[in-house]
Amino acid sequence: MTTFGDLAGIEVGRLATVSADRADRLAQMGIETVLDLVTHYPRRYVDRTSQVTIDRLVEGTEATVLASVRKVSSRPTRARRSMVELDLFDGRGYLHLVFFNQPWRAKQLQEGAEVVVWGKVERYRGRRQMTNPVVDLVGDRTGRIVAVYPQSDKAGLSSWQIATNVEEALDRFCADLVDPLPAGIREREHLAGRPWSLRATHRPETGADHGAGRRRLGFDELLRLQLALVMRKRATERNARGIRHSTGGQLVERFLAGLPFPLTSAQRRAIAEIRSDLAGPYPMHRLLQGDVGAGKTIVALAAMLTGVEGGHQAALMAPTEVLAGQHHASLAGLVRGLEVDDSGGGLFERREVSVSLLTNRTTATQRTRLQSGLVDGSVDILVGTHALLSEAVDFADLGVVVIDEQHRFGVEQRAVLRDKGAGGLVPDVLVMTATPIPRTAAMTVFGDLDTTVLDELPPGRTPVATTWARGSLEEAAAWDRVRSEVAAGHQAYVVCPLVEGSERVQARSATEEHERLAGGELAGLRVGLLHGQLPAAEKDSVMEDFRAGRLDVLVATTVIEVGVDVPNATVVVIEDADRFGMAQLHQLRGRVGRGADRSWCFLLGEGAGDDGARRLQALVEHSDGFELAEIDLELRGEGTILGARQKGVTDLKLASLRRHRTTVALARSVAFELVDADATLASHPELAEELRLLIDPEEQEFLFKS
Ligand code: ADP
Ligand code: MG
Repeated sequence: MTTFGDLAGIEVGRLATVSADRADRLAQMGIETVLDLVTHYPRRYVDRTSQVTIDRLVEGTEATVLASVRKVSSRPTRARRSMVELDLFDGRGYLHLVFFNQPWRAKQLQEGAEVVVWGKVERYRGRRQMTNPVVDLVGDRTGRIVAVYPQSDKAGLSSWQIATNVEEALDRFCADLVDPLPAGIREREHLAGRPWSLRATHRPETGADHGAGRRRLGFDELLRLQLALVMRKRATERNARGIRHSTGGQLVERFLAGLPFPLTSAQRRAIAEIRSDLAGPYPMHRLLQGDVGAGKTIVALAAMLTGVEGGHQAALMAPTEVLAGQHHASLAGLVRGLEVDDSGGGLFERREVSVSLLTNRTTATQRTRLQSGLVDGSVDILVGTHALLSEAVDFADLGVVVIDEQHRFGVEQRAVLRDKGAGGLVPDVLVMTATPIPRTAAMTVFGDLDTTVLDELPPGRTPVATTWARGSLEEAAAWDRVRSEVAAGHQAYVVCPLVEGSERVQARSATEEHERLAGGELAGLRVGLLHGQLPAAEKDSVMEDFRAGRLDVLVATTVIEVGVDVPNATVVVIEDADRFGMAQLHQLRGRVGRGADRSWCFLLGEGAGDDGARRLQALVEHSDGFELAEIDLELRGEGTILGARQKGVTDLKLASLRRHRTTVALARSVAFELVDADATLASHPELAEELRLLIDPEEQEFLFKS
């Protein structure tokens, strides 16, 4: 029996149809082994029987045509551009093709070659014609369905050349391919067998064939990815000793009872889930997702206080100084008056819960004092930026870690904080995201975490009225709204256009914009300026002035993107909104609508750029962050969301987090089923082998250690 591992050990040069030159060209496309070759899947399929013949092409529509090349000629045009012309013939009619500035087409498209072309049908001088169509050389394929491979102009390889190599690879090396998936699962989930699927994907006999084949092979990709994640999750649990936090005390109850509002039921559920994790023997490793304004801070603080009550310490890490400062201020406010036993003192001493702040701006003297407080246990909660990761920061007894805005931190940074526990005990970790990410992406990017979703906003929030202000009239209305809200005692934000270049360039442009507005649209109002290059003290005082109502309008860069919480602000104007990403716009809009008052968001811009218009339109139509996240995934594709951070994502050739949502969830549940029955996949050696092909040796050792 042959496994994928075996195929990975065979170089393509062993194939009779692969010469040394061909091997080089394939290598340029990243194809070096027979496994690479047979997992280089067709891009699309052309069905001869349902193909429109040339005589039935409709002018003005886009069409695919399968035909052979006749009469090629090439000449320079008057404008000294090259022009290649040819005719295609499919037995029913002729189609004229014209290529401008692609002189190599004359050599590529030889008379008699079989091609699939795709383009818009035009009529020129009485003839049907396509100009610069997409061309795939498919060769003289037999069979009803022609598979079209991603060809490479750079490597000089056409679809039919690749097809020839794949065909030999399938015939010679894949005749008795192993199916690594247990037959029971395969049947239960109606998945086709692997050997059949590979053949059906490359050489389908019907359209249904390649559909079913691709479904199975795509499932396999997702299963490998989920197996790696689920095994990492279970191995972490196996290899770490956690703290069994006591949840019997009154501190959290007193904290919650002292809040001026009741918890939402989603918050209550989340807190219960987290406290049950904290009480358990394994270190918690949980993702808390919730829309902007869902009230994640309260949930996080309840978790931290659970640790503090048992005499442990807690840390909260945020991605920016502004946000860390903001968290520090709001946590300090929330714990005011809350008392705990003072473990360092004498009998029954009580003191207030203490919250400290550590950033790169903390002076050496402050740091020394802070450090001794961390060691003697008088600092209960430490809030900070990545400065928390520094080796010099040493806790006496770190019990709970909260990481806000995780997507800006790496997996490694999570690990550094986990290592700051005392006595070999691993602290419990809660990760929060600023904006929702789609469920399938969360299962993948955070697939080694458990998930809690806050799917409810506190009552009384009215959606922010969002307008896409396109023309100068509509823009004027936006500034009118700013002035009338200020007149009514409210405040506003103006977000400056994003400019290319350094922080300094961005700062300069924000400064100019501030001046322009203060002397123009916003003349007579008290207008402040906030950007990343201001000295720290000035940043603080500007924020404080705005918070205290001494400024009417804050002109700012995206430093206000996350966490800034001034409920009296009711208008946000975002300039050149089409330059920002969806999540960013949703965050920026979330700066208003935080109180009981009606709020407005104005998106200025023409809707330029890739999908700019669709993004702005989506914001106008939807206020739900989860909804927007799905649309964003739709628009951008998964690459940008997953980035290079997730190992194994490069293995996703057929599967899509966007199009195959149910398959992602299925793969995850099958992964749990397999791993929980057999932690190191000892009874599924072929699956284990495939996983090893994907992950680096260090990770392998961690995952497969029993
Ligand atoms: P986010 O989830 O975006 O971090 P926050 O935790 O900053 O949201 O909360 C947003 C605002 O909602 C804060 O002003 C907070 O005090 C308030 N808030 C939180 N929970 C509730 C609740 N259950 N009822 C009313 N207001 C709440
Ligand atoms: Mg928050």
